[in-house]
Amino acid sequence: MSSLAEGIGDPQVRNRGTIGGSIANNDPSADYPSACIALNATIHTNERKIEAAKFFKGMFETALKKGELIEAIEFQIPEKSSYQKHPNPASRYAIVGVYVAKHKGDVNVAVTGAKSCVYNDKEMSKALSGNFSSSSIDGMDLDSSEMNSDMHASADFRASLVVTQAKKAVDAC
Ligand SMILES: Cc1cc2nc3c(=O)[nH]c(=O)nc-3n(C[C@H](O)[C@H](O)[C@H](O)COP(=O)(O)OP(=O)(O)OC[C@H]3O[C@@H](n4cnc5c(N)ncnc54)[C@H](O)[C@@H]3O)c2cc1C
Repeated sequence: MSSLAEGIGDPQVRNRGTIGGSIANNDPSADYPSACIALNATIHTNERKIEAAKFFKGMFETALKKGELIEAIEFQIPEKSSYQKHPNPASRYAIVGVYVAKHKGDVNVAVTGAKSCVYNDKEMSKALSGNFSSSSIDGMDLDSSEMNSDMHASADFRASLVVTQAKKAVDAC
């Protein structure tokens, strides 16, 4: 989490931006949402508790209701974890970022930057839950049909970056 935080924007952005603002905004390339998904976070608001898996609804869209305020975010401590991103060289937002967390029993692979909203890549999570080694996802051919495509990276390049960053994250664990 601390190395993820260290890679956000620049000192000015890090000094002013908040984790609550980041997840409430739910930018498709933001870093913190991937930590919430990978670390099975619970978002505490002034009204209720929301599981991260039900919090991020779509591009810039969350489960928050009008006037609902995030007060705290609780993370499950994993056995091992690592976040690796390919940053946009100007803003440092993730062109693709992958947060791999190995919990007792299963592995979560949370991906940001690749689609319209952060998501748990079930295919890679399943493969790594069976064998926590980067070789188990090596060469995985992910479906790029719903991936973002822009001047920075095509959908196919993003699909390949997801696998590369996931492998880096596993190796860094
Ligand atoms: C130049 C630049 C580079 C950046 N680079 C990155 C990057 O590399 N990675 C990255 O992840 N992000 C990046 N960001 C985003 C930045 O880190 C902040 O997360 C983002 O701007 C939100 O900031 P904030 O906390 O000030 O929230 P605000 O901008 O104040 O709020 C965002 C939205 O969330 C709502 N909100 C704020 N707090 C809460 C709360 N507690 N409960 C409910 N709703 C709330 C606000 O009403 C608003 O709708 C970058 C931003 C800039 C300007």
